[in-house]
Amino acid sequence: MAFLIPSHLQFLQISDIMHTLESQDIVLWKQLGGFRTANSRMTDSEGIDSMRSELTSEEQSLLAMAVDAAQRAYAPYSNFRVGAAVRTEAGLFTGCNIENASYGLSVCAERTAIFAAVGAGARRIEMVAVSCVDTGLDTGIGGRMPCGACRQVIAEFADRAVPVIVHGAGVWQVNELLPEPFEL
Ligand SMILES: [Zn+2]
Repeated sequence: MAFLIPSHLQFLQISDIMHTLESQDIVLWKQLGGFRTANSRMTDSEGIDSMRSELTSEEQSLLAMAVDAAQRAYAPYSNFRVGAAVRTEAGLFTGCNIENASYGLSVCAERTAIFAAVGAGARRIEMVAVSCVDTGLDTGIGGRMPCGACRQVIAEFADRAVPVIVHGAGVWQVNELLPEPFEL
């Protein structure tokens, strides 16, 4: 599998990226991720514990890319920066939210990441990470989760068991976020 490192990160060692995540967000992650484990946990038909709050090293790396991507958000109206990263069969891609003076034209980070991937030839999403870096410690899950439109777009290119890492809100599967996506 080819991992395409974005040009702005190619001179960084993965340890540097992880250090960035460590210094900025790991405390937040630990403080907020834990509450998922306090909720009732679910196991899907394949026995996969899909409501994890602990991340694998690869998931941490993808989340670090999402955190980094959020730094490039264009969010002058909401000041709510979001970053996303997707792993696909064609490599890794990132995106950020891009707002517009005509508010309705604003686009979420998840979709800019996915559209960049598809535009580069990808057709299969294997993992998603999203980070709302401006959420505070008192922000609940609802302020961190992908919106409905992005869930539908993720489902277009991802199998139902694909993990979606939501910063501060654990790891979900696509089918948990959108059990019955619209299909043609
Ligand atoms: Zn969205």
